[in-house]
Amino acid sequence: MSDKLALLGGTKIVSKDIGPACKWPTITQEDEQAVLDVLRAGTMSGIDITKEWEKEFAQYLGVDYCLGHCNGTAALLSAMFACGIGVGDEIIAPSMTYWATALPCFQLGATVVFADVEVDTLGIDPDDIERHISPRTKAIVPVHYAGYPADMDRIMAIAARHGLKVIEDVSHAHGSLYKGRMTGTIGHVGAMSCMSGKSLVASEAGMLATSDRFLWERAVAFGHYLRHGEAITDPSLVPFKGYPMGGVKHRVNQIASALGRTQLRRYPQRLAEIQRAMNRFWDLLEGCPGIRAHRPPKDSGSTMGGWYAAKGLYRAEELDGLGVDTFCEAVRAEGCPTYPGCNPPMHLHPVLNDCDIYGHGKPTRIANSDRDLRQPPGSLPVAEKIGKMCYSIPWFKQYDEEAIEQAAAAFRKVAENADQLLSEARVRSDCQATRA
Ligand SMILES: *Cc1c(COP(=O)(O)O)cnc(C)c1O
Repeated sequence: MSDKLALLGGTKIVSKDIGPACKWPTITQEDEQAVLDVLRAGTMSGIDITKEWEKEFAQYLGVDYCLGHCNGTAALLSAMFACGIGVGDEIIAPSMTYWATALPCFQLGATVVFADVEVDTLGIDPDDIERHISPRTKAIVPVHYAGYPADMDRIMAIAARHGLKVIEDVSHAHGSLYKGRMTGTIGHVGAMSCMSGKSLVASEAGMLATSDRFLWERAVAFGHYLRHGEAITDPSLVPFKGYPMGGVKHRVNQIASALGRTQLRRYPQRLAEIQRAMNRFWDLLEGCPGIRAHRPPKDSGSTMGGWYAAKGLYRAEELDGLGVDTFCEAVRAEGCPTYPGCNPPMHLHPVLNDCDIYGHGKPTRIANSDRDLRQPPGSLPVAEKIGKMCYSIPWFKQYDEEAIEQAAAAFRKVAENADQLLSEARVRSDCQATRA
């Protein structure tokens, strides 16, 4: 068989449609029945099924308390409030993540200082956290990016040294283990999304998890007023029972809670299949130039959970500088979907730099700060370039050996024949030079 790349007119290496093996979420009759039961009972706004979901979720994670939320963003806001974050306070979050890791802090009058990320884990860089700590810092919000557990030992040590809370954003990492421990249970509080694209699905919902009773009570007080009677015992909260302190309503629709329960019940088994499939994909690419697995070392006790939005690492210097965009274009031409990049760096977005959201007469980011803590281009070099150093890979939910082998073969073929693209690029630029 010829190794000529499909992008240059060769034969595609992928003959199979790999879409079906990546389909998600998996919805069965059990899910449908659970949802129908809520509809027929008319208890969408109740809390009985939500409490069952919370109990089972807490058991799964191994924490004392869970609290269902209408979405992950709300769970994060609630976790921030629970930790006492308020006007003028600062959180430290990675710049390269989804916006909801950090932006909810604005609603509390607080702000965010971003830390850089690591090129191999894509998580917050512990070496970069301490220089961003100020007297106003209250919490660190690490993200287990694309399922890869953040370096929690070092993050917890930094937090302990400075008296900070740690809020884990577990939205990518349901079931990921960090050195044998469940993510979301290592920091003071964990918050996660269970929207339909995530690896643990409850349609649109979020979950907060903690073993700290006080933090849980604060979260209840903030946006779950119907539950004040059962939950609020702390003297600082008791006088305010009855109205939500946040002026928000964070209750989860029980159609979602019911789905959350059936999905959670099947999750360990589905997670095991995802892990088997994704690890197989990367095992097939071991030693391939230019590309690296985004997964922890095998003997580390850490895992990728459900491999949410699975990524690969790109090392252009091993392929004579071939750009990731062309690389991905060539893999797609072989019949395997892949796109360059990851979340864009938040510290460069106008909402973090210019936008006066609440009418303070200055950008919200610095509305309650004693200094201009905005971070200009060049300030977080890895977060700014990491989009050129990674790409999406097929997120296999099913162990389909043929689909996995063909997808891996597409990446390998392009990586091992990258010189064809380089000479093509050189020919193109030579032609342009001649014309000019
Ligand atoms: C999805 C996501 C959220 C927000 O969750 P929603 O349920 O969409 O509100 C927060 N953080 C990260 C990292 C996410 O990927």
